[in-house]
Amino acid sequence: MTRSEDQLRLDIVEVGRRLWTRGFVASNDGNISVRLPGDRLLMTPTSVSKGFMSPEMMVITDMDGRLLSGEPGRKASSEILMHLVAYRHRPDVHAVVHAHPPLSTGFAVAGIPLDRAVLAEVVTTLGSIPIAEYGTPSTPELPAAVEPYVKTHDALLLANHGALALGRDLFAAYYKMETIEHFARISLVARLLGREHLLSREEVGRLQELRGTYGIASPAPVCVDDPPAGVDPSCQVVVAPSSPGERLVLDTAFLADVADGQVPVGNGGEIQLTYGQLTTLIEDAVRHLTARTTA
Ligand SMILES: [Zn+2]
Repeated sequence: MTRSEDQLRLDIVEVGRRLWTRGFVASNDGNISVRLPGDRLLMTPTSVSKGFMSPEMMVITDMDGRLLSGEPGRKASSEILMHLVAYRHRPDVHAVVHAHPPLSTGFAVAGIPLDRAVLAEVVTTLGSIPIAEYGTPSTPELPAAVEPYVKTHDALLLANHGALALGRDLFAAYYKMETIEHFARISLVARLLGREHLLSREEVGRLQELRGTYGIASPAPVCVDDPPAGVDPSCQVVVAPSSPGERLVLDTAFLADVADGQVPVGNGGEIQLTYGQLTTLIEDAVRHLTARTTA
């Protein structure tokens, strides 16, 4: 059932409220858009907190970003070009959500993509979450930077900026944003604890088959062998070591980086957390995992 424009306006208000409540945006950060029939776009306006929007604030543009309707003085989000490039390349995408969730944005600032085969559910749903190179916000640089990735990914980080999620509908895009941030949170905890077990390449192959079995829509297959060079990947490149017969493999490369001091976990690879800090981190991760499995 397609949702009416009135309902979509209410949905954008609701998704904005959730982004703000979860701390995925501060001040007037972030933007949300949905395709409308007739080659039009319904989008959040500039300069409003996503936590306190009302349905009539939204603007309607054509698919070139020209304003068609909206309250007097309202303009489409300054990041509309980034949304438009996603819609242009992906007829299956009907909604785009952009936010600055602190943990995934932290990975984007550190230049660490969320592309390691760590959680089975993330491999089957999002594949990998690469980082699009830095582009000045609200300029054509940003759509140019995301363009190679939106063809093959539903979720990506934006270097030194934030995250982007694409979906077949608005809530699908929003839930992908939640998954990006949740995955970043778990990855951070594992790294603070000083080790990562990766899913083996063979296990990733099984998960790829599950994608097919369950009909999980994906713009491109997962690949693990010799990632193609350049920034125009034809598949979702996931880091997974080959280890026939094993499902989980301790990532010795990560441990070596820790020992070399390349991964900053305390002095000389030693984790330096107080018992209280460690307990808080673990409790937080468990709480989020529990909330997710009971949802
Ligand atoms: Zn932004």
